[in-house]
Amino acid sequence: MADIPFHVAFVAGGEQTYVAQALASGRLAGNGAFTARCQQLLRDRYHAPAALLTHSCTAALEMAAMLLDCGPGDEVIVPSYTFTSTAAAFLRTGASVVFADVDPDTMMLDPADVAARITARTRAVCVVHYAGAPAPIEALGALCSNHGIALVEDAAQGLHARVGDRWLGTFGRLAAFSFHETKNIHCGLGGALLVNDATLVERAEHVWERGTNRAQFLRGQVDKYTWVELGSSFYPSELQAAFLLAQLEALDRNRQLRSAIWSAYHRRLVPLAEQGRFHLQRVPGDAVINGHAFTLRLPDETACEALRLDLASQGIAAHTHYVPLHTSPLGLRLGNRPGTLPHTERWAPTILRLPLHHALTAADIDRVCTAVEHHPT
Ligand SMILES: *Cc1c(COP(=O)(O)O)cnc(C)c1O
Repeated sequence: MADIPFHVAFVAGGEQTYVAQALASGRLAGNGAFTARCQQLLRDRYHAPAALLTHSCTAALEMAAMLLDCGPGDEVIVPSYTFTSTAAAFLRTGASVVFADVDPDTMMLDPADVAARITARTRAVCVVHYAGAPAPIEALGALCSNHGIALVEDAAQGLHARVGDRWLGTFGRLAAFSFHETKNIHCGLGGALLVNDATLVERAEHVWERGTNRAQFLRGQVDKYTWVELGSSFYPSELQAAFLLAQLEALDRNRQLRSAIWSAYHRRLVPLAEQGRFHLQRVPGDAVINGHAFTLRLPDETACEALRLDLASQGIAAHTHYVPLHTSPLGLRLGNRPGTLPHTERWAPTILRLPLHHALTAADIDRVCTAVEHHPT
């Protein structure tokens, strides 16, 4: 039997046609016609004042930190259970990163723990939507607005998911998406910044365009362009934008494929969760998930590793996830200590992600679930 890979990069079908058109146009450096089409699609879909393509989600988070003027003396609250970029984007401005604990039922920021860590220096909270499901975004939004601090969404895994009738990525002042090949929709490497606060749009364009007002020049709003802001080179080439456009046009189909697989796993594994073999991530009743990942929370690290190895021995690739940032080598050098985030420390080593990608067949899902059911406990 063939192995079941953990991930297969999505192919929408129209990528080659659009990339060939970009090549034929001879305009490849970025901020061209394909970039404009992707940005318009994102703006229209998510009703945002602006969307800017970036070369990664990391870059979009760095832009967010710059646009919020984070710097020395400021504190930004982030989860420890996340990818490095969520914290690093703010840290590199000179701000301090304050790690908050997660709710073990979702592995996402616990608003009560965030509230307890707000001080007079807190400038922003950056929340992660984990595994394609919504974080408690309404509670965090209310908390931030009560304290006059900015909410940023690391929606790297949250594209095209929503809670009620509101899309993830539209709650924060700024939100970052990832188009890395391991995400649902991708262009190899890529990302986007969604700017939901209209007062930040002009500066966002400057920061994005190496600190210049070239975007206004291209629209005929100024006759020469010049250096107006400290920025960087944040956008991808037109080749990536062309590839991405084909993928973005398949957003609905991608979510439908992935969430059907997620639901098939869920139906089959709920009985085992009810027996207490593992815990399944809690998803709010009014959420529309994007099926980014299907996670099991095992009773402890030993049980997690045993299941992972059992699946691997049957050719099924399941992966663990984040090593907490606060107890990582850099986290410790920054002065963080073990014992400070009990849920993150207790549960991070117990999370196992099952294979989930558009190419999984019903037979594959059956094979994975059967292997989980037969695993000795
Ligand atoms: C993937 C990911 C990132 C980084 O995205 P890149 O596009 O690779 O920079 C950041 N945060 C989270 C939560 C992610 O899952």
